[in-house]
Amino acid sequence: MKTRRGFVSNSSTTSFTCEVCGTTEAFHDSISHVEMGFYRCPNGHSLCEGELLNDSSVTTKDALIMAIRDTMARNSWSKQSIQSEINEYGPLEDWDEENLKDTVRDYCEADCTAFQCPICQYEVFSEGDLHKYLQKLTQITDDEVLDEVRAVNKRRRRIYHNDYIDYALHKLGMDRLALAQQIKTSYPTYIELSKHLKD
Ligand SMILES: [Zn+2]
Ligand SMILES: [Zn+2]
Repeated sequence: MKTRRGFVSNSSTTSFTCEVCGTTEAFHDSISHVEMGFYRCPNGHSLCEGELLNDSSVTTKDALIMAIRDTMARNSWSKQSIQSEINEYGPLEDWDEENLKDTVRDYCEADCTAFQCPICQYEVFSEGDLHKYLQKLTQITDDEVLDEVRAVNKRRRRIYHNDYIDYALHKLGMDRLALAQQIKTSYPTYIELSKHLKD
């Protein structure tokens, strides 16, 4: 089963957190997150509507194909199903827009394309990804950071991504800009970064 990042459910309400700005909204299950202005990209990022990218240089069809390819690179179950349709109907480029949209809806579990997602396009980094990346790089534990945070504020019981990132960067003598450059140099696309983080 795919896990949906950004969702925490109980019987009646769902909360959704934007991975770019951190905005969290809780709303009743009967209302869809899209109606509340939240979107999911094919790579599982949760975003506010206002964060979606818009670039007229890429056609809707290209964006849909990109979304499908992203999904195929990440989800082997979807990959198999989509591949069998490609075997039957020919390359994605030859499909019409309606068929591409159906495929995105059926297999991609997304409300927008990866092309519209600023995290997938490397315009911004998700705090969760930076936390994981720095964990792999530095081996600093969350407990070490929590101790540091509690030395200043005893009431804190957990750390936020931000706490970890700031602490690790301080240890490395790096700023966020340099970190972003390092990641983009080592992993030229978001898919490569996300594979690294999952290893
Ligand atoms: Zn947001
Ligand atoms: Zn994304």
